[in-house]
Amino acid sequence: MNIKTKLYGGLGILAFLILVLGGSGLVFINTLAENSSAIIRNNIRTVSYMESMEQTLNELHLKQTSKLDSNGDRYTYSVKAVDSLKKKLLRSLSDQQQNITESGEAEISGQLQEAIMRYLDKYEQLNSQTTLNSSLYQDFSMQYGQIQAMLAEITNLNIEAIERKNDRAQNTASSVILYMTVIGGISALLAFGLLITYPNYIVKPIRELIDRIKKIADQNYDQRLEFKTGDEYEELAQAFNRMATRLQEYESSTMAKLMNEKQRIEAIINHMHEAIIGLDREKNVLFVNAKAEELIGRDRSSLVGQYAPDIASTNDLVRKLIQDLMEGTKNEGEDSDEPDLVKIMNGDRQVFYSKETIPVITGNDAADEEKQIGTIITLKNVTHFQEMDEAKSNFVAVVSHELKTPIASINMSLRLLEDERVGKLNEEQSNLIQSIRDDTRRMKRTTKELLDLSKIESGNIQLNTQPAQPLDLIEYAYETMIMQANQKDVKLVIYCDQNLPKVKTDVQKTVWVLVNLISNAIRYTPTSGRIELKAEEKPSSIKFLVTDTGEGIAEEYLDKIFQKYFQVYADKDGDGGSGLGLAIAKEFINAQGGEIDVKSTVGKGSTFYFTLPKN
Ligand code: ADP
Repeated sequence: MNIKTKLYGGLGILAFLILVLGGSGLVFINTLAENSSAIIRNNIRTVSYMESMEQTLNELHLKQTSKLDSNGDRYTYSVKAVDSLKKKLLRSLSDQQQNITESGEAEISGQLQEAIMRYLDKYEQLNSQTTLNSSLYQDFSMQYGQIQAMLAEITNLNIEAIERKNDRAQNTASSVILYMTVIGGISALLAFGLLITYPNYIVKPIRELIDRIKKIADQNYDQRLEFKTGDEYEELAQAFNRMATRLQEYESSTMAKLMNEKQRIEAIINHMHEAIIGLDREKNVLFVNAKAEELIGRDRSSLVGQYAPDIASTNDLVRKLIQDLMEGTKNEGEDSDEPDLVKIMNGDRQVFYSKETIPVITGNDAADEEKQIGTIITLKNVTHFQEMDEAKSNFVAVVSHELKTPIASINMSLRLLEDERVGKLNEEQSNLIQSIRDDTRRMKRTTKELLDLSKIESGNIQLNTQPAQPLDLIEYAYETMIMQANQKDVKLVIYCDQNLPKVKTDVQKTVWVLVNLISNAIRYTPTSGRIELKAEEKPSSIKFLVTDTGEGIAEEYLDKIFQKYFQVYADKDGDGGSGLGLAIAKEFINAQGGEIDVKSTVGKGSTFYFTLPKN
């Protein structure tokens, strides 16, 4: 039976109860009505006919008897009035004949009719006789008595009937009340029962379904519904159970796939030559691969799940690895361009690893927000590159050192050639000598820069720091470069307070940096340009600025020009820059605890600036 049929059933029962109640009420009311008014009305009518007949008869009889009493005065009453009374009497009699209701009443009514006829007959006989016939009068009186008795008898018969019917109506009313109470009670009970069970019957399975669906939503897929109602709910339960089974199967197959994937990725990570360490957002170790285990020197089981800073307190390598995370030097989500170098002693051999800290970001496309869920730290063995780099630095150092002597001797020879005592040169020879001199100067400069760089790379920068007045530093550089500036018709001006606090610096190297910056500025500034040299006081340092009105540097090159051998336009003007000047300047400034950077607008000019700590 489906829900619709059941609903029809329930509502049908209610409708049936209402019909039963209403119908039985109608039947009972009808019975009551029949028992009371309609039937009683007939009896009351008879009683009223009897009364009317008795009254009419009395009047009629009085007219005759009064005449008889006042002897001789026989025609004194009005014949018309007597006739009217007779008619009235007969009419009432006829009405009564048509209103027979009780058993025996018809018979008495018949006798009454006969008695009235006889009485009226005697009435006429008495009128027609001149002298009073006593036997006739006696009969007449007897008939009158009989009629009265009959009238009383019929009246009594009907009054008794009224009483009887009244009793019966009373009884019927009591029965009706009883029946109605019983039927009403049963109906009310049935309706009440339906009222309690029906909503529950409809709602309970729905509640249970909602409950199970919520659990399924919480990935609790072993939910099943057991409705044995034989209706749509049972069908619904079967469909639900099918769905839950499918979900369960799907979940277990997805889980198996995921597990497979996980194992595969773990195997890959484990077999990688790089050491890999995964941290969650709270810096707890999520995983380490075999290489990382080996380098850290601890078992995976003693690392996974541990708070990384706790491990760092007893392990130098881990401390180095999470240093950035702890100091927050790298903002979350920011990746550094240059991987850090980590040096690890392997026996008595140095092993170099480049460290990379990669934030793991999850993107939520819908909300368009990114969230860091952890960090991966990798260590790549770069000892081989490091060794090659060292070899290269050594080679550069040796070559540049070896070049110094021949360059010096070329210079010496040039000076000799220029000496008129050796021989006078013609113009063409002088021009050749000049170009050899320029090339030699450039070669000397490049050789010196290469030598400086190799010293820096081998970590051999010797700083000879002392307090120095910023204006003095600027003026040294100014003196060195003013000639070159004038030659190119570029204005070189100083804006510097002579009372600025002193800086702690290696004067030679800082002047070298300033000279290099001014030299670049002159080189990249067109004729009649302007170069400003400034020094400003900052809270803990002095900032030196070299501003030119040159061609400027495009934004994409700004972070590259401090790298070794980088040139925006290689050898553009044939002046043969090496691309090393700014790289060396950066090393010199950083070695002194300062920072160097540039701001530039293409077509307007550039400002190179660096800071040096106050003394
Ligand atoms: P170089 O020996 O080539 O000058 P640097 O390291 O000093 O090497 O400079 C690197 C590059 O930066 C240069 O090739 C040049 O393109 C650019 N550069 C440096 N200074 C300036 C400047 N003042 N104006 C424009 N470009 C500059």
